[in-house]
Amino acid sequence: MTDPAATLVRARWYDGRSSQAQPVLVGLEPGPRGPGLRLHALMPGTAVPPPFFAHDEVEWPEAWRPSRAQRTVVVDLRRAGSLEIDDGAQWHAALEAAGARPGLAQRMQTRWRVFVGVLLAAVLALALFYRYGTPWAATQLTRFVPLGWEQSISQEAMRELDDGFLKPSRLPAERQAALRARFDALAAQLGTGEASSLHRYRGYTPRFELAFRSGMPANAFALPGGQVVVTDALVNEAAKAGLADDALVGVLAHEMGHVVHRHGTRLVVEQGVLNVGLGLALGDVSSVVSMASTVLTGLAYRRNHEREADCFAARLMQRAGLPVAPMADLLMHIDGPPTGGKDEAAASKDGGAPKSTDGTRTPSAADWLSSHPDTAARAQALKEGRGCAAGA
Ligand SMILES: [Zn+2]
Repeated sequence: MTDPAATLVRARWYDGRSSQAQPVLVGLEPGPRGPGLRLHALMPGTAVPPPFFAHDEVEWPEAWRPSRAQRTVVVDLRRAGSLEIDDGAQWHAALEAAGARPGLAQRMQTRWRVFVGVLLAAVLALALFYRYGTPWAATQLTRFVPLGWEQSISQEAMRELDDGFLKPSRLPAERQAALRARFDALAAQLGTGEASSLHRYRGYTPRFELAFRSGMPANAFALPGGQVVVTDALVNEAAKAGLADDALVGVLAHEMGHVVHRHGTRLVVEQGVLNVGLGLALGDVSSVVSMASTVLTGLAYRRNHEREADCFAARLMQRAGLPVAPMADLLMHIDGPPTGGKDEAAASKDGGAPKSTDGTRTPSAADWLSSHPDTAARAQALKEGRGCAAGA
């Protein structure tokens, strides 16, 4: 046992009614639930403090840091007034000597860490929900979107695009007819029972239509419901590269994959889920978070779409007895972001989406355009015929 006198700390006692301080010595004594506090009056006067306080009868100051050793420590004795101790370091040492569990300050820090941990876990859970939860919900909800709704939205989108940067095709009519014939043959292939395993949504029967347009760099895109658009630039690029039409047919098969998997509809439904969910959860903050989560989810989601569409194309081409390699060659040939066209098309190709002025993402015609990231990797995968077994 240490000498009790060694643990006595100088303090001023206030009775809580007058501003008059009384010098006292504070002794800290081990107790069952923690140190108790014994007061020794130095100047016995009119008001004498109660001599002993059990651990529970004291509001122990919570945070004490060695760096603040010069700070006055205030100990609340509740109805018995309060103590002021000038030597914080001595007080702390005496507390520890009396068996105070190591560091009230440390416990505060632990609580802080727990708080940060919980906060991080909550943020992570939210991020995971929007990364995986909303695409899943969108995929399920898309089952209930009627084909007629997709077709009317696509007509509207096509009008918007035609009023915008799309121009009529300048390809010769017979060239268009030849490619359309091959497109229709592919669509017919898909319609037969033999190829029914390629269908992603049971009972979903899109009406495939091929349209030719100019005014855009080498590209092809699909609208929900079956409208596929190919640009003159893509057709010309394939010819320039000396590729057989099988290359273009492969790209068209890929676009059919987007239709069959209803990727455009899923993106729009997902956006709806995000807006509604975040609107409910966060109110005003939603627009900012929604935008961020759209970018986050959009990148992986679209890459996933491209894989699905590629696998679909590879399987459909194989069933039709057509080679897949020319398509991969064409992809490699048109790799890289488009340099021409309007900003809207470029934004969509980059995987982002046009933003309205208030920061939220508003669905527009350009949303329906499919993006084609990681072209080199995709072309390689197509040629090697890998990546489909697991994903399809
Ligand atoms: Zn695509």
